[in-house]
Amino acid sequence: MRIAIDRDACVGSGMCVLIEPAVFDQNDDDGLVELLDEGPLTDTAETVEDAVQRCPAAALRVTPD
Ligand code: SF4
Repeated sequence: MRIAIDRDACVGSGMCVLIEPAVFDQNDDDGLVELLDEGPLTDTAETVEDAVQRCPAAALRVTPD
């Protein structure tokens, strides 16, 4: 699977970074989400799906490879 972010929707809570710091980061200037690894995701797939569910802004979306 792959991960897509919507920076317009992100509110910079940092939840995704706490859950999977190998895939998500926050921009130093605006605090909004940035992708470190858009996929295909294998080892991190489970935690990325958890981050998608927990994002308070519904700014994360998984897509098939
Ligand atoms: S959890 Fe959602 S709102 Fe929070 S930083 Fe990540 S993408 Fe943005």
